[in-house]
Amino acid sequence: MPDHHPATESDRAAGEKPPALPMPPEVRARFDRIYQRPVVFDVQNLSRTFISPQGQSIQALGGVDFKVHRRELITVIGPSGCGKSTLIRIIAGLESASGGQMLLDGQPVTGPGADRGMVFQGYTLFPWLSVKKNVMFGLESTGRGGAAAEREALQWIDMVGLDGFADHYPHQLSGGMKQRVAIARALANKPRILLMDEPFGALDAQTRAEMQDYLLQIWRNVDVTILFITHDLDEAIYLADRVLVLGRNPGHVKEIVEVPVPRPRTPEQMFDPRFTRVKQRVEHLIHPPGEAPKKPLPVIRMTAVGDEVF
Ligand code: ADP
Ligand code: MG
Repeated sequence: MPDHHPATESDRAAGEKPPALPMPPEVRARFDRIYQRPVVFDVQNLSRTFISPQGQSIQALGGVDFKVHRRELITVIGPSGCGKSTLIRIIAGLESASGGQMLLDGQPVTGPGADRGMVFQGYTLFPWLSVKKNVMFGLESTGRGGAAAEREALQWIDMVGLDGFADHYPHQLSGGMKQRVAIARALANKPRILLMDEPFGALDAQTRAEMQDYLLQIWRNVDVTILFITHDLDEAIYLADRVLVLGRNPGHVKEIVEVPVPRPRTPEQMFDPRFTRVKQRVEHLIHPPGEAPKKPLPVIRMTAVGDEVF
């Protein structure tokens, strides 16, 4: 999907967004390959209206449309409350849509299924089960049990870099390790898509950066398509093939931006002009200049004259 959208009236009113830098040929070729792959999921005109406890109707999503190709990693970014979690929960089948539909491998989906794995921000491991048993839980629930399930679980535990921790319990693990177990548990079911809703949002910055690299390594070795929600701009771009920018009131696709940065990704690329330019573009889409400015805090002076900090 090329990213050459003509400027709209609102673009012009808000100032032109910074143009993308040319894409290196190897990245263009990678996108061409991605678009030739089959569409794994196809979100069609999805909408969702909630009724608040006061009886008001809140339209969380209106007419969301996009397609994701096999083994693509797409990130979704947008301001708080724009419907990111609602979107991913509908795709997961945990929430119903008010309109539109979603196809998975061409078939409409109506409820949860083992073909979609989910990792949330909050830690969702069973505290009373060991790492191995947590990972086996998904396998057992799909009918695979016993020694084969155990062997498979151990393979997934190795895959996420936690060999030696199979018999530990969640309380003995750091936040990053817990999320790696959650990823192993989700992947053990061999889902077609892995749905991640701000999975690293509760981690400190350094662990978060480590987890991003772990995720990219894991994704490289597993046949899975990833939809990853975040409100962190660097994370959205660093991980993605394409960044889907969601606007609010109601949630809608503002633009889907191709990231012109080669893979494998390395943290140094965050200083690459292509990275910083695409970041400016996405930032411009999320917060167009001219949007209502933040209300300044009232000036209540509690210092002596002459000791101003600026
Ligand atoms: P995000 O994840 O982008 O922060 P959400 O999808 O959680 O946004 O929420 C989108 C909008 O829908 C918000 O206005 C939120 O208050 C509303 N909403 C979400 N879930 C419910 C619900 N169960 N009942 C009522 N309103 C909801
Ligand atoms: Mg959310």
